[in-house]
Amino acid sequence: MKKRNLFYFFLSVFLFINISGCSKPSNKITKENDQVILTSFTVLADMIKNVAGDEFKVESITKIGMEVHGYQTTPGDLIRGSKATIFIDNGFGFELWAEKFLTNLDIKRITIADKITPILISEDAYKGKPNPHAWISPKRGGQYVDIIFDALSDIKPERKEYFKKNAAIYKNKINKIEKEFTLVINSLEENKKFLITCEGAFSYLAKDYGLKEGYLWPVNAESGVTPKRMVRVINTVKENKIPAVFCESTVSNESQLVVTDETGAKFGGNLYVDSLSQEDGPASTYLNMLNHNLNLIKEGLNDNS
Ligand SMILES: [Zn+2]
Repeated sequence: MKKRNLFYFFLSVFLFINISGCSKPSNKITKENDQVILTSFTVLADMIKNVAGDEFKVESITKIGMEVHGYQTTPGDLIRGSKATIFIDNGFGFELWAEKFLTNLDIKRITIADKITPILISEDAYKGKPNPHAWISPKRGGQYVDIIFDALSDIKPERKEYFKKNAAIYKNKINKIEKEFTLVINSLEENKKFLITCEGAFSYLAKDYGLKEGYLWPVNAESGVTPKRMVRVINTVKENKIPAVFCESTVSNESQLVVTDETGAKFGGNLYVDSLSQEDGPASTYLNMLNHNLNLIKEGLNDNS
């Protein structure tokens, strides 16, 4: 009997190993068959995930907190590119590396900017070129969702209704924040409707909600602050008695602290534009990013001290 028991014991161990051994590769196969959407930055990845639901695996080339404009792609990025179904980028020159990256890849490309009306950069080397940061205004965020919906429906027309439902739910959430932006900015005193940042990445927000804007450099791709630019921002803050100035999460706020020292304005904090924050940070999703930016603007520019 003992021998028999031992036999059954080994038999069951053998079966267990084989069954679990079999199930693992089959999981793997399913994963490999998932269609991958590759995108350029974390903010866009989050927006795509909200429309794609569980129909696609969405990956961002740049990681959280990285500077996106001048990113250098790696061999690992190329491998990911070769496995992806589609590459969705922002465009308007945001991803300076995108053309080169796509040269050797046989992949469908959707560029959001192809269907967005640009605001042009008004100075320096980028004068006359489109400002890429359209998503920073929740008004334009809704347009991004529409473009993503069209792209996904093209790839999987049989899931169009599912994407449509997801897009509608997501746009509702963006619209709620959009209304809050209007309320908050309309309630600011007229002379405080002035947004001073490090990068000139807020033009769409400024235009859509009636803010004036000032910045230390127009685009992160050339993030040097010249003495001329520094003096101009300091004078703007002094002349308009602007209570707070801001910087962004992906660059150093050192230069903006010079402005606060020189003017007595307070440092209003880091706005999020080109990247989300980590999961436990204030801008872990596009919606959280919009809310965070709105709260900082509200706290900074409402300050009567
Ligand atoms: Zn930027």
